[in-house]
Amino acid sequence: MNEQVRNDCCENNCGGWGTWNNGCGCQNASNSCCNACGNTFGLGGGSWNWIWWIIIFVVFLLLISGMGDALATYFEARACAMSDASNCVGGKSTLAAMALAELCYDTLLTDGVNAMLAVEAGVCTKAVENVIEANTYLSGIGFESGGLAGAHAIHNGLTAIEETHAMYHGEKVAFGTLVQLILENADEDELIEVVNFCIEVGLPVTLAELGIKEVKEEEIMEVAKLACADGDTLGNMPFAVTPEDVYAAILGADALGRYSLGE
Ligand SMILES: [Zn+2]
Repeated sequence: MNEQVRNDCCENNCGGWGTWNNGCGCQNASNSCCNACGNTFGLGGGSWNWIWWIIIFVVFLLLISGMGDALATYFEARACAMSDASNCVGGKSTLAAMALAELCYDTLLTDGVNAMLAVEAGVCTKAVENVIEANTYLSGIGFESGGLAGAHAIHNGLTAIEETHAMYHGEKVAFGTLVQLILENADEDELIEVVNFCIEVGLPVTLAELGIKEVKEEEIMEVAKLACADGDTLGNMPFAVTPEDVYAAILGADALGRYSLGE
């Protein structure tokens, strides 16, 4: 950071260079300085205010989609552990991998909504830090060491539909998690917990929310066939899965999502 930048910041927002430390209470970067002033960094504030909120919006989107990806970690690791499938580095799941995957899910449930609200408000709180840890470290180590299963295979299948291309990876994985849970005929309380979490943080729970305005049987079957392709991770589920099973589970997840949204 150069001195001129500091001057511009403080002359515009804090009354001058001399008040930079005391007036802003900031010893660090110019952005922090100007946040402390209640204004944004730069010459006059306006355009930088606009850029600041674009940055917040992008961080918000990445945080939410990151939670969608992290949401799958525990359920895919659980499926792999049940089937004794190999993890993503060719080994087998361990107790540590399962513990990290479970902590990842618990952290999302505990801090996900608060993290979303904090980022929306343009601030970083402990909940935000915890969710970033869940989205990166816990999910990263969790999936590598625990393995992938239905949710990511469904994601891969959904890429066959062009309308979903605008959606983030994590958004499709979140819906894939719902489909995996339907395939597993998961406990109703668990299903409701996951659906409600997705709705609260703004992750898609229906095909329409994934951008698919008109549900066409042949397209959904194409998704199902792609998800079941040889070598994809649906083969890590603890039971055999056919394209017909996946087709039904996708529509079942969509129906659950619409019901939960009150549609
Ligand atoms: Zn992923």
